[in-house]
Order: sequence, then C-alpha cells, then structure tokens
Amino acid sequence: MKTNIANIETFLVDVPTIRPHKLSVATMNTQTLVLVRVRCEDGITGWGEATTIGGLAYGEESPESIKTNIDTYIAPLLVGMDASGVAKAMAKLRKAFQGNRFAKCAIETALLDAQARRIKVPLSELLGGRVRDALPVAWTLASGDTSRDIQEAEQMLELRRHRIFKLKIGLREVDQDVQHVLAIKRALGDRASVRVDVNQAWSELDAVRGIAALEAGGVDLIEQPVKAGNVAALARLKARFDVAIMADEALHGPDDAMAIARADGADVYAVKINQSGGLTPALEVATVARLAGIDLYGGTMLEGGIGTAATAHVCATFAELAWGTELFGPLLLTQEILAEPLVYRDFMLQVPTGPGLGVEPDLDKLHAMQRR
Ligand SMILES: [Mg+2]
Repeated sequence: MKTNIANIETFLVDVPTIRPHKLSVATMNTQTLVLVRVRCEDGITGWGEATTIGGLAYGEESPESIKTNIDTYIAPLLVGMDASGVAKAMAKLRKAFQGNRFAKCAIETALLDAQARRIKVPLSELLGGRVRDALPVAWTLASGDTSRDIQEAEQMLELRRHRIFKLKIGLREVDQDVQHVLAIKRALGDRASVRVDVNQAWSELDAVRGIAALEAGGVDLIEQPVKAGNVAALARLKARFDVAIMADEALHGPDDAMAIARADGADVYAVKINQSGGLTPALEVATVARLAGIDLYGGTMLEGGIGTAATAHVCATFAELAWGTELFGPLLLTQEILAEPLVYRDFMLQVPTGPGLGVEPDLDKLHAMQRR
C-alpha cells in the first residue's frame, strides 16, 4: 500500500492558563498551541505540536508565523513524499528552509508519530529505545506572589504531583527576587528542590550578586541567568559557583550544544525539542551533553499534550536524566485537548506506551477551541 504524505494541516488552538504565568519576558494568560496533522495515503495519521512561550517576546517564531510557514512552504514541499522515509523527508525540509525550528519540530514529530504507528511501536523505540518509563516533573511557581507560591507548592507536595519547584524570576530587582525565592525555600526546606529560571534577565554583575545569595540559601540550580549569546559570562559563572548553572535559551540545537560544551559554559542542558528544531536534533544535543559530562534536564515550551508526549519519548531514551523534567505544560492549561490525558503520578509523568506518541487529540474539543 502507498504510504505517501496525502496532506498536512495546521490548527491554532488558544487555551486559557489556570493562572497568570509570569516570565521576565511576558505574562501569559493564554497558551496558543500549534498542532499539525499529517495524513498519509495508507490511512495513518500523525500529530505534532509547535508551541512557543509568549510568541515573539521569547523567540523569533510566533504561532501565526509557524502556521503560515507550514501551510505556505513546508506542506507543499512534503506532500507526495513517502511518509515512511521520515529521515529523507526531514533532510529535504532542512536543506530547503533555514531556521523555523519550531515548525520543523512539529513536522518531524507528526511524521515520526505516523511511522511509529505504522510499525506499531511507541515513538521512543524509533529514537533509540526507552530506558525509563516515568520522568520526574518539576512545577513552575510563577504567580509572582510569595505566599500564593508557597501555598501552591504545599498543595503539589500534598497531591504527590511535584517536589521540584522552579521559580521564574528576573522581572523585579535582584534583592526582591532573592527574598522571594529564599522565603519559599525556607518554607519548603528539604522536602523539595527549589530552582530558579532568570530567562536571561540579569547582567553578569546582577548574576554574581544574585547567585551568591541563592546558593547560600540552598537553591539547587540557576537557569539561564544571563543573555543567551553571552556564553563567556555563563562559563565564568559556572567556574565561580558550585550551584548548577543551566543553559536554556542559549541552546538552539546541536551547534550551540557543541559551542557551549567547548566553552565549558554549563553544568546542565535543558533539552527542548522545539528549540532544538526537532526530536532528532534534540537527541544530538543530549549526546553532546553526555560526551561532555554535562547533565540533562527535559525542558518545555509549555506545550500541550502532543508536544509534551513527544518530549517524554525523547527523555525516556536518555541514559541519565540527573535533573528530571519540567513536562507540566498540559497541567497549566484549563482545557485538556487529549482524548485520554497524560498520567502524572507519584511526582512522575508516565511515558505513554501505545503506538506512536501514545496519545490522541480529542477532535471535537480541538475543533471547538480552534482559532477561526
Ligand atoms: Mg527556561
């Protein structure tokens, strides 16, 4: 039977978040999911997701630009190609078009989902094979209000859903942020790991002052304290402090992973499938990290169920995953878009076991929430 790609469709789905999500670059009240459906001539369908944080406030692709570029350029390039040759299709796409990492990720996810369904294996088995079935999941405290954040963390501990908390800081003065974080760390004590994500907001001098105080107060990890392009500053901070320094925005795929490793610029890499430009490049980022002695963390762009499941399949193949993941995206949304939600249990996300991604969107819900 023919396995050619019959058509590729994109959907923008606006889903309100359960609370404002404050980052140094934007405050999110709604998340826009970009979903991609690839249909093949043998009747197999694959799904992918390209979701950004705060649109252009965070990176150079927006949900609208991703949709336009897939509809206008990428779909016509790929339709008619053999869907069972995912690597060939992706090689053509990567050769034809620059950048567009999120769009490429959604397409690669959908093609791999379809192919894994075709041969009836979980997606992780096409990515080298899983070595773990569940992943620790951090929760982000980002209300900006200290007592509200402590209350939220206590609730998560009680529910046994999260015991790793990441605080989004960098919007306020360094001293105010440090007080906020340390108040939360004092309240939670040894019951939880407390980490911060500065999202590039600090100068190097701010970072030296801020990290010294946070390290002394028992914070475990500092994520992207300075500008993504300033790898030299990241390297100086890594050399100066014992607390783990994580690269996030600085990592736009394997080339950056290699450059930061060469500069000895980070203790930990946040591996993100969309930032990396797909599942295969994300695996390459992880391989560079492993060979360079850099720890791994499974990062999120606050994707919904499709993108979160795809990342889970990638992370399930990592031999070591020292810092766990932050794959809580679907839990931040007021609406579930999957027919069967992902399972979070005992502080872990269970990696789906069915064929392909192992999850399916609920088409009725999707159509009801789709932007017209
Ligand atoms: Mg981050």
